[in-house]
Amino acid sequence: MIYADSAATTRMSETALAAMIDCIRSDSGNPSSLYAYGQRAKERLEQARADIAAVIGAKPREITFTSGGSEADNQALRSAAILGLRQGKKHIVSTAFEHHAVLHTLKRLEQEGFEVTLLDVHEDGLVRPEEVEKALRPDTCLVSVMYANNEIGTIQPIAEIGRICRAHGVRFHTDAVQAVGHLPIDVAAENIDLLSASAHKFHGPKGVGFLYARQGTPLTPLIEGGAQENGRRAGTENTPGIVAMAAALKERAASLAEDAAAVTALRDRLIAGLETIPHGALNGDRVKRLPGNVSFCFEGIEGESLLLLLDQKGICASSGSACTSGSLDPSHVLLAIGRVHDVAHGSLRLTLDTDITEADVDTMISAVSETVAYLRSFSPVWRDLREGRIPHIL
Ligand SMILES: *Cc1c(COP(=O)(O)O)cnc(C)c1O
Repeated sequence: MIYADSAATTRMSETALAAMIDCIRSDSGNPSSLYAYGQRAKERLEQARADIAAVIGAKPREITFTSGGSEADNQALRSAAILGLRQGKKHIVSTAFEHHAVLHTLKRLEQEGFEVTLLDVHEDGLVRPEEVEKALRPDTCLVSVMYANNEIGTIQPIAEIGRICRAHGVRFHTDAVQAVGHLPIDVAAENIDLLSASAHKFHGPKGVGFLYARQGTPLTPLIEGGAQENGRRAGTENTPGIVAMAAALKERAASLAEDAAAVTALRDRLIAGLETIPHGALNGDRVKRLPGNVSFCFEGIEGESLLLLLDQKGICASSGSACTSGSLDPSHVLLAIGRVHDVAHGSLRLTLDTDITEADVDTMISAVSETVAYLRSFSPVWRDLREGRIPHIL
């Protein structure tokens, strides 16, 4: 099997798995208990917090553990909205191609009386910092722009947007779920006030993540109860999951540059191979993209059929985000970068990690080429395109 869907989730690293098992075996106490056994769990928890903070240039007390990226996104937006409301500010700026954890929370905040401006994303899959600046109003309380897109992999100009937000005194959140453990991040240098991350996207376990909130940005708990996490998130901490997340992130951070270089080379080989398929196109900027992201649209096919046939050939791929599979609507991300419905339906996302080999890449190039040709051989849309009844777009 070739696993080329690491943007959907990654396998736990052996280091993370060992850390998790050791924590369960040796220090399974409740970190809130006062006896030594509980305090050992507490020490592990605080070590994990310090390790994670160090990777993104934060202070340990600025890290709050959550159940994953979705919870971190929800809490970041809601907390910033509540802080805004206290100053009479009810306007939020974000983008049309955010993850649904952000978009659906914004929709909810709109129903509660906030005003949301969703910026267009350009054809290259990049947000323009000057357009963020232009969208700011005196009553803007929050800007939320994702660090890197989960479908098309484009890396946003986060430091520039951070500088603009800081200059205007507006809080800045970034959903960095696809970036943490894959790109170097420095929350101080990039003027980030709130940042969301999820362990299972960087070889940690599922169901655990963290929210960075700069000192001076108090968080509102989404879950009420005990005083865990400094009163920011109630409930007994998932110590084994958190310890494993920290182990996974430390491991990734130690080899970030080498891994990125190796995976980028594989990515570019795969892109070059897929570009030999006629009437297809890469989605998003070629350079400002995640090391492992390859996203294409092919005319005259259905992405879902392509996925099923690739699965039969032992290749795990995606046509967009896992969250939208099962729905017939084309991806909101591809529509946001201006792909028309028909073209957006023919999408394929292959996301690579360090375990992929050159031979795997070549296997994928042949498998995708053959399968696209096969699907086109009986596609009525493709026949219309060939016979000139409808014009080619790609
Ligand atoms: C996966 C993902 C999320 C959700 O994270 P979970 O831990 O699965 O809740 C949020 N944002 C982005 C960009 C993602 O890729």
